[in-house]
Amino acid sequence: MREVYKNIYLKELALPDNPLKYLNFYVIKGAEKSMLIDTGFNCEDTKAEIMKVFEELSLEPESTILFLTHLHSDHTGLAAYFEKMGLVIYASKIDGDLLNGSVDKSDPMWQNAIQHEFWQGLEEDRLIIEDHPGFKFRPSGHINYIPATPGEHIQIGEYNFEIIDLKGHTPGIVGLYEKEHKILFCGDHILGKITPNITFWGFQYGDLLGTYLDSLDLVYNLDVDHLFPSHRFLVEDHRKRIEELYEHHAKRLEEARQALRKYGKSTVRTVTKQLHWDIRSKNWDDFPKAQKWFAAGETHAHLEHLRALGEAAMEEKDGILYYSMIK
Ligand SMILES: [Zn+2]
Repeated sequence: MREVYKNIYLKELALPDNPLKYLNFYVIKGAEKSMLIDTGFNCEDTKAEIMKVFEELSLEPESTILFLTHLHSDHTGLAAYFEKMGLVIYASKIDGDLLNGSVDKSDPMWQNAIQHEFWQGLEEDRLIIEDHPGFKFRPSGHINYIPATPGEHIQIGEYNFEIIDLKGHTPGIVGLYEKEHKILFCGDHILGKITPNITFWGFQYGDLLGTYLDSLDLVYNLDVDHLFPSHRFLVEDHRKRIEELYEHHAKRLEEARQALRKYGKSTVRTVTKQLHWDIRSKNWDDFPKAQKWFAAGETHAHLEHLRALGEAAMEEKDGILYYSMIK
């Protein structure tokens, strides 16, 4: 545990078998109330690590709150455990409800994932929900939480955090901004080195890549001296990193346009195979199953963005979606 700013501590929690490697687990210590940000995976080692932190910083469960930035299991895995310990939990209404709708195989989260797979033309890849990385680490039970509403504030010691809406990486991801000290806890909205995954969550959430880019604009315009992301290194120059992320998505959108021009009416799967992926597989058949879910979801988000821009059209035939360029 190291102090990265006055009364703000960071501990790297290992994420076994995950390319993200670690979760940056933050504790903000106040005289009357302290706050944890996110939890790591639901596993015994992580529990033990966090218990050590409780001891080291003399935290009391009844005066500690747990703030969840978003629903992903590397951020929420131990939420139910901490609730039992007596911590009050904050989560955004959107992600909190999605999280509570992902406990059982029959829950909306997994039924939707299967529907999306079919829409995307992945049926021939024979993916089953058990291959989905999120399913493997799904929550063990429901949580009771206080809705973290953007615009509201949480006071911890000398820090007055404003909850800010960062949606894009998930439909309801939220961050904590401290204006006076120019501090931002951004979850997975902006990461150093890694490009945050932007995926298709269903038509009810609209063009989430467009939403993500808007949320990047929002942070670009904030005064931030200390950006605390949830994985890897602390980002020194948030504007420079945001410009790199804009560029990444612009490039990927151009690849998607080119694929549609080359192949005409195409499924998400067809376009996915044409994009460039940072993965050591020779070809699509070689892709690990978990990566097929991710890659197709990300491609789908880009195709939906092209559609929102008025550049692409989509039609459904026999339950499969086909995209094409309009001009
Ligand atoms: Zn995430």
